Amino acid sequence: MSPRLILATRNDHKVRELHAILAPLLPGLNQDDVVGANAYDLPEPVEDEVTFAGNALLKARQIARATGVLAVADDSGLCVDALGGAPGVFSARWCGHHGDDQANLQLLLNQLSDVPEKYRGAHFHCAAVIVTPDGREYVREGDMFGTLLYAPRGENGFGYDPIFSPVEYPDLSSAELSPAQKDAISHRGKAFRALAPLIQAELSS
Ligand code: IMP
Repeated sequence: MSPRLILATRNDHKVRELHAILAPLLPGLNQDDVVGANAYDLPEPVEDEVTFAGNALLKARQIARATGVLAVADDSGLCVDALGGAPGVFSARWCGHHGDDQANLQLLLNQLSDVPEKYRGAHFHCAAVIVTPDGREYVREGDMFGTLLYAPRGENGFGYDPIFSPVEYPDLSSAELSPAQKDAISHRGKAFRALAPLIQAELSS
């Protein structure tokens, strides 16, 4: 059966996470209706935009154009007040190479080692987008605000979660939250809950 929705990511963890967020919001959508970009033999696009929405759109455009199927993508990162919003769109490659969560987190901790509590504000940001095969584009965004800790805590989540404490749980890091607790307050959860009615409308049109 051909898919009705493609999640424009090569990351299987993210395919599962997005599916878990979207499935309850899109009741008519079956497991077989949704696939990740790995199901197609396409080159990975270079994320060379400087905004979250720009990078999410370029990923979704590539998939929608190449497959003729509705494409969903997101781009996210951590924005630190004391660093003027960095690492931002460079979050996944802050240490100089792509995708080394431990090195990224350690570099950020070192950079902020002398920054006092009152200046350690930060937020995660997510832009979630859909692009239709005929080129219509929709963007919805979400934030999770909090502060940066001085040392990692917790085993859940990924990326910078062990050094981020959300305002909703001031005594915990986001790596100490259950997946459901995090989804309920996260940048990604908020952006995709806002996008879901638009996906539903496109799927039923
Ligand atoms: P991307 O959206 O897959 O490009 O991820 C960007 C990077 O931002 C990730 O590699 C993480 O370092 C960071 N990031 C985005 N969302 C989260 C989150 O929910 N927790 C921790 N780190 C995150």
